Amino acid sequence: MNSCDCNRRGFFGHAFGCGAWVAVALAAGTTQARQAQARTLADPVTTTPFARIEKIADGVWAVVSTPFGADGARGDRTTLSNGGIIAGRDAVLVVEGFFTPAGGQWLSDQALALTGRRPTHVVATHYHLDHVGGLAGFRQGADGPELLMTARTGALSAERNALARPAEGSPFPKAPPILLPTLVLPEGEAKLDLGGRTVRLIARTGHTDSDVTVELDDPRVIFGGDLLWNGIFPNYVDADPLKLSTAVTALLSDHTATIVPGHGPLSIAADLSGYKGVLDAVEAAARRAHRAGLAVEDAAKAFTLPPSLGAWTLFNPGFYTNAFKAWYRVLG
Ligand SMILES: [Zn+2]
Repeated sequence: MNSCDCNRRGFFGHAFGCGAWVAVALAAGTTQARQAQARTLADPVTTTPFARIEKIADGVWAVVSTPFGADGARGDRTTLSNGGIIAGRDAVLVVEGFFTPAGGQWLSDQALALTGRRPTHVVATHYHLDHVGGLAGFRQGADGPELLMTARTGALSAERNALARPAEGSPFPKAPPILLPTLVLPEGEAKLDLGGRTVRLIARTGHTDSDVTVELDDPRVIFGGDLLWNGIFPNYVDADPLKLSTAVTALLSDHTATIVPGHGPLSIAADLSGYKGVLDAVEAAARRAHRAGLAVEDAAKAFTLPPSLGAWTLFNPGFYTNAFKAWYRVLG
């Protein structure tokens, strides 16, 4: 079954949408995934079937999506990605646009409840649909927050997400309106003063051609977007694995930082070393297979993660293939 256009490599929906969802039996993985997504760093202030909100510090909350359901691999995907809320005296920044407009609307309501005001700014870390598909939900009629993304992310979103017409039977919602940035983030680092709290927005690359991390220094918190994953095998569909590795090493170098990964539960950087282990295991296997002249699909089929790295749930069996394809791209 291949009812959607699998040549759209850049479209997140390719990775999630082409045939495999129902097939993702994840017989053993489902229970593990359910248990893993339930791990919290702090008592949640809000819990829904699709996400919870954990308070990291005064004025700083993380959204942790919980997309694995009880009845199978696929649960409620209203938000699908992680993100957060950062409040200052004068402004409220939301990290990520989430997957559906209903998810964006939900988080706008949560920001209002927790901070007393609706988000004034929303930053999208990259163009994948589970991070920008819900941006329209933050609008209140003619009003809406400033939308922050890099020029490259805006361009990629317009180019790739505009093609996101889900096939019949696809788990994707109707193609959402594609919203472009109202404030373009520069390459390098930008500082956003929320009033008594400064947020650093740092342009990076590795998961896609343009990724942004959202960072606080006191307390040290990193919203890593999809450069960082915890307990869920990462999506390499657009990745440059060499750049990804470099970015991850830099992001995890402060072992005390609280990490909000793009997917999976919160962590302290020191406890996320298994993620680097996953990336390194993929790299070693891909280099070996490439040297041996193995076809990329065969290499992916033969791959398993060392059990010492713990459980890393696959959103989709195609994710290993995407990882090996990414390595074969850079290995030539
Ligand atoms: Zn992504």
